[in-house]
Amino acid sequence: LGESALIERIAARIGPAPRGETWSGDDAAVLPFSGRTILYTTDVMVEGVDFDRAYCSGTDVGFKSVAINASDIAAMGGAPRHAVAALSLPPETSVSFVDAMVDGVVEASKRWSIGVAGGDISRAHEVSMAMAMIGAPFGDAVVHRSGAKAGDALCVTGHLGGAGGGLKALSRGIDVTGSAALAGLAARHLRPSARVVEAKRLCELHPTAMIDVSDGLAVDLWHLMDASGTGCDVDPAAVPVDPRLAELADLLSDDTIDPLDLALLGGEDFELLFRIDPDKVGRAQTALAELGCAVTRLGSVTENVSERRIGDHDLEELKEAGWDHLRTG
Ligand SMILES: [Mg+2]
Repeated sequence: LGESALIERIAARIGPAPRGETWSGDDAAVLPFSGRTILYTTDVMVEGVDFDRAYCSGTDVGFKSVAINASDIAAMGGAPRHAVAALSLPPETSVSFVDAMVDGVVEASKRWSIGVAGGDISRAHEVSMAMAMIGAPFGDAVVHRSGAKAGDALCVTGHLGGAGGGLKALSRGIDVTGSAALAGLAARHLRPSARVVEAKRLCELHPTAMIDVSDGLAVDLWHLMDASGTGCDVDPAAVPVDPRLAELADLLSDDTIDPLDLALLGGEDFELLFRIDPDKVGRAQTALAELGCAVTRLGSVTENVSERRIGDHDLEELKEAGWDHLRTG
């Protein structure tokens, strides 16, 4: 079925959210709780699927588990607050690996001021860590994926493609330690950051919609457009490709590294993709520059739903086609 279709199938069987709540279909659920609004999300990391112990330490796994959940809360315009975690472990797992995972959880939860309030442990054939996290909106309103209007500017924080490049380098056994650029790319895959502080500053400018870039710009941009029934026109030359990918592309010059491909389709960069009044783009850039974070305008939201484009490429084709499609361009 594929992940998206399976999620839709399950969501349909569970049924719609009550009025005033958001369930499946956004970065986190939005729920009323004792007179407040809470954000609630979960993510699971599975050995062999989401991480490979050949090059991911236990600390990396624990850190990333916290970061990817915090990123989803931030993308709703909220601060992560508390988490619980469920570990599945093969019986032969060393205590030192578990200690390392906990080190990573502690490091990341301190960084984003998250309390890890409990968890559970069971046995499995591979290591996995499932985490659920709650958070609270920064201001009065959460920022959904829906809510854009034609004419909005489409912007993204930071650079894209680095995590995908880091994964390529690590999975091919390249020694990344001798190069600051390659080590930086590897770190983007192993220890992603969550743009929590940046989301807080952005929310002061009331973005109309936001998502974190977890599946690659093409896929997440499509989700953002789909949620509010709009089209988009993005300039591929504007996409802020991670400059360190040039070194990886040089190193693998006989191979298939295309920095723009990685930026559009690589995923796991955990940057914020958002829509904002075009008059506020400059203020967003100034505000986030103070935090050392770039904001790049990629293009605009358009009225025509049937026109979702990155340059000459149809967004739907791009997200379906995967790696090789753009290479001809
Ligand atoms: Mg997300």
